[in-house]
Amino acid sequence: MGQESREKIMLSIEDIQKYGIVGCGGAGFPSHIKLMNEVKTFIINAVECEPLLWTDKYLALNHYEEIINGIDYVIRLKKPEKTILCIKDKFYEYFTELIKRLDNIEVMRMKDYYPAGDELIIINEALGLTISPGKIPKDYGILVNNIETLFHLGNAASKNRKMTRKYLTVTTKTKSYIVSTPIGTRFRDVLAKLDIKLKENEILIENGLMTGNSISEDSFINSTTKALIVYNPTRVYNEIVSFSPSRQQRRNFTACIQCSRCTDLCPRYLIGHPLKPHRIMRCMMNDEKKAIDFGLFLCSDCGLCEIYACPMGIAPRQIIRKLKNELENKGTLHENLLKTNTRKFRLVSSKSLYKRLAVTSKKPDSNEVCINPETVRLQIKSKGSLLVSNDEKVTEGQPLWKPDNTFNVWINATISGKIKIDSEGIIIKD
Ligand code: SF4
Ligand code: SF4
Repeated sequence: MGQESREKIMLSIEDIQKYGIVGCGGAGFPSHIKLMNEVKTFIINAVECEPLLWTDKYLALNHYEEIINGIDYVIRLKKPEKTILCIKDKFYEYFTELIKRLDNIEVMRMKDYYPAGDELIIINEALGLTISPGKIPKDYGILVNNIETLFHLGNAASKNRKMTRKYLTVTTKTKSYIVSTPIGTRFRDVLAKLDIKLKENEILIENGLMTGNSISEDSFINSTTKALIVYNPTRVYNEIVSFSPSRQQRRNFTACIQCSRCTDLCPRYLIGHPLKPHRIMRCMMNDEKKAIDFGLFLCSDCGLCEIYACPMGIAPRQIIRKLKNELENKGTLHENLLKTNTRKFRLVSSKSLYKRLAVTSKKPDSNEVCINPETVRLQIKSKGSLLVSNDEKVTEGQPLWKPDNTFNVWINATISGKIKIDSEGIIIKD
């Protein structure tokens, strides 16, 4: 690699924090924190297992140069002993250009099941290793980065570009689109640009039918938004997203037959974590705190137990989520793994999941839709200092806010315009 290329990777870890780059795989973990650790194995997560999502496949096919710049940056910075690209075999054609241009990289072709892209599952598949409960990949010298995260790192390292825009899949019953839009865009503006009008019985889901949430058109895209799904929900799905936690709980009290199907199909249980949602459901009836003993804090929020497994329409994930919020995170009392050898028989194929959700996947148009809204709203979620004041004019990329800790990322202007600051954050109007 020549001098010009070497100059491309001089960004420091502090720069990555200033560039506002966070993980785009769902959790939004700040990228600079992950890059602080020693890395022996670098896993590129291109599995994108949430039903209906096409964003990472689209980026791999159409923006592979930026992704390669991101991979190159990480490899030069962390010098891993091994790099593995994990893809779904079914979508191999989307990655051929990327693979052609990468040297010294192993490619792992995974089957089409859900949840295959969960960090712990992908590590289990790629390395045959189960991360112990309470530990995280960095404790084993493993870094997992999603494709869109590497796209943003590549843009930063090669073009000095901050993470101001997001790529997302927008899908309706009949059509899918890949959209590029500034962080802070109102969902209503995205729908208007695509001429999508919600029909009666349709709801909006942010991020995915399995792990996402129902949202209003007046919500805003943030740095972790992956998708916007216009969905006509099945009866079970509708009850899961619309019933209050106390109603979910009542249903658990009256309907749980302790069949243990939620545990049998739980992906974390199947890799050996002592997480037993059926036992947690039972604890809810007498001693909620005991739920910690059955792995309450080990749940990955994948949604399989409620959307696919439970025959009684109970929502273990929602109940676990509520209890997790109520109980202080006490970590886990478990250190040992369970011995399970049934995982290969209990993988839930994407095909059967699509059937259960009553959806079909629609390949998006090959051209991305670029949205440039007049107004964006950027949320401030932690303590820090504002770097701008009301009515000040800013340009895209200009720093607006900096955190007072090393964990959070800076907030930069995602469009050019005039600033308005209120109790919830920063508004920029063109
Ligand atoms: S699958 Fe449903 S009914 Fe069966 S144990 Fe789990 S919550 Fe109860
Ligand atoms: S959401 Fe349900 S299936 Fe998924 S990890 Fe949690 S308990 Fe297991």
